[in-house]
Amino acid sequence: MGKDYYKILGVDKGANEAEIKKAFRRLAHQYHPDKKTGDEQKFKEINEAYQVLGNKERKSQYDQFGTTFSAAGGGAQGGFSGANPFGGFDFRGFSSRGSAAGWDFSDFGDLGDIFGSVFGGGSFRGARTKKGPDIELDLDIMLKEAVFGVGKAVSIRKQNQCDSCQGTGAKNGDSYQTCSACQGSGKISSTVLGYFKTQTICAECQGTGKQIKEKCGSCHGKGIVLENVDIKIEVPAGIDDGQTIRLAGQGNSGESGAPAGDLYINIHVQPEPGFERDEFNLITKVNIPFSTAVLGGQILVKTIDGEVKLKIPVGTQSNKNFILKNKGVTRLKAKGRGDQIVIINVDVPTKLTKKQKQLIEELDKEFSGKEKSWF
Ligand SMILES: [Zn+2]
Ligand SMILES: [Zn+2]
Repeated sequence: MGKDYYKILGVDKGANEAEIKKAFRRLAHQYHPDKKTGDEQKFKEINEAYQVLGNKERKSQYDQFGTTFSAAGGGAQGGFSGANPFGGFDFRGFSSRGSAAGWDFSDFGDLGDIFGSVFGGGSFRGARTKKGPDIELDLDIMLKEAVFGVGKAVSIRKQNQCDSCQGTGAKNGDSYQTCSACQGSGKISSTVLGYFKTQTICAECQGTGKQIKEKCGSCHGKGIVLENVDIKIEVPAGIDDGQTIRLAGQGNSGESGAPAGDLYINIHVQPEPGFERDEFNLITKVNIPFSTAVLGGQILVKTIDGEVKLKIPVGTQSNKNFILKNKGVTRLKAKGRGDQIVIINVDVPTKLTKKQKQLIEELDKEFSGKEKSWF
């Protein structure tokens, strides 16, 4: 049984050339496989219909003889035994890869792109092997671990290649028979646009020419099993909160031996009280007694490496910055470390003992030269 090309294009039997072309353009855009509304089967059907109805000679043959030379679904032999009903139409421009060389698309205007992308882009190739799904996980680390780097072991549940069948899905990895869909050639011949032959990779066997005879019992033929896996993650020194580590091929294994997806580790650096990070520098705020600010002295400052001594010069003001060289974060994928910037805050006491008050009043007299008047 043949196809009703008029019905496929949604036009009347009496439609003229312009109407047919218009209907074709509209439908071809709608069903183009690259589009959201795409439908490869429909797209091929529409093309097939237009190749006949859009050509005067072929249309009249079709109108006269009906559907006798519809080749759709007929495989290699489909509809073309005997004389070429399209007499004289030259298909030599096509290769099995579908180069559009030799076609004249000028008539299609912008549709030239559509054909080009379909023929060139492999939409007709049927490979089903899909990479395994990626895995994403979150990892909390301490600031110190971000500064120096750290090795972490995490346990995840993921699809792994089945050991019993080496990921093939076939019992013992060798229970195969010749693919019945392609007779072992790995390729399927089919007609595109209704009348020229093209070869695609056999979707049944993904081009291997083999089919599983007896499925592997451990994975039920999928080639993958769900397992708990310990994964070691080397967190590089210098990593920052919100950055992601990608471990290629450590995601879920694909079915039937397809490559594994990737593992993405989102790093969360836990805040460390008293420390702020600015790229590779660490910023800390330190309170010093007001007497130390005036007289100078030495204080202990907390760094990520432990406490260090810091000399406070005489007369140090609030907001004065001191730089502790190389006490910051290791530069990611580079050499050296950033600095620690110490911002001084001079502590003005809010509560004084009686003695402290007396002493400060003495001091006050000394500074002002007289009692309680600065002016
Ligand atoms: Zn298996
Ligand atoms: Zn096959």
